[in-house]
Amino acid sequence: MQTQEMSELKTRLEIGSLVLRASTEFFHEQGFVQMLPVMLGRSTDPLGPDPGSMIIKTPEVEYEGTLLYTMNSMVLHKQVAAKKLGRLFILSPNIRLEKGERKATGKHLFEFTQLDFEMAEAKKEDVMKVVESYFDFLTKELGKHGELFAQLGIEPFSFKTPFRVYTTHELEAKYGKDWEFPASKDHEQPFWALCHKREFYDKEDMREPGHYLNYDLIYPLGFGEALSGAEREYEYSRITERMGRDKLGMERYRAYLEEAKEGFRPSAGAGFGIERLVRFLTRAQHVGDVQMFRRVPGEAIRI
Ligand code: ASP
Ligand code: MG
Repeated sequence: MQTQEMSELKTRLEIGSLVLRASTEFFHEQGFVQMLPVMLGRSTDPLGPDPGSMIIKTPEVEYEGTLLYTMNSMVLHKQVAAKKLGRLFILSPNIRLEKGERKATGKHLFEFTQLDFEMAEAKKEDVMKVVESYFDFLTKELGKHGELFAQLGIEPFSFKTPFRVYTTHELEAKYGKDWEFPASKDHEQPFWALCHKREFYDKEDMREPGHYLNYDLIYPLGFGEALSGAEREYEYSRITERMGRDKLGMERYRAYLEEAKEGFRPSAGAGFGIERLVRFLTRAQHVGDVQMFRRVPGEAIRI
């Protein structure tokens, strides 16, 4: 690696370290309990149907006679944890074996960490408010470290909240089916995109069936998706109906369904990739450029 590239990586990792410190501080201050992650489970996020996902498979291991999956995300575990903890967050390592062609998007990794949080009895507006306060906090904290950003020839980004809100229907009408990249390029601040048809755990709006109480936050300047989340389906009958619609094999979700049968609290939450955030803040070409150990689909692993 060239000396210049090495020192840029060091700066990006230092900014990443500040982001981790600020993030944990913010969520603690907001009354969230930090939980340690799990990496294997009897059920995990199906990641679909979601046009944004292209994974080859979910790795599984048989351990002492039980089939366990590596975490695509801890979203199902978050719902279980919210029963006891109410408000929680996790720095959660995820494995998503994306196809090699995904290298070209600049924003996919096959191993990454997300800050995943969940709030019992919350609605989507509550989550959006927490997220906007988080970005205000980042603006304040990172603004103290202008010298670090100057090493990359940039200034710390100043987030201006509240962010604009669109529905995916509006974005599709304006930018076409693949709206994410052109819409992102067309904005100078992050914006919300509401109502995506995706995984069973994102709650359907019963006042408007076929519409969903979920949200993505999109970075501006062509950086694309930052965060996704939703109010959750929490009633057993609704969960099984949605899983049936998605033709998911119930066996894979048996452990989760047992928890659902005992009863979930209504909740909402979201998750955002730390590496994508650091990529955006440091204007890196590829999200792999902010990793000490690159985990880019289709790229040889050095160590
Ligand atoms: N953690 C979830 C995911 O990775 C996001 C969410 O909370 O819905 O899809
Ligand atoms: Mg999801």
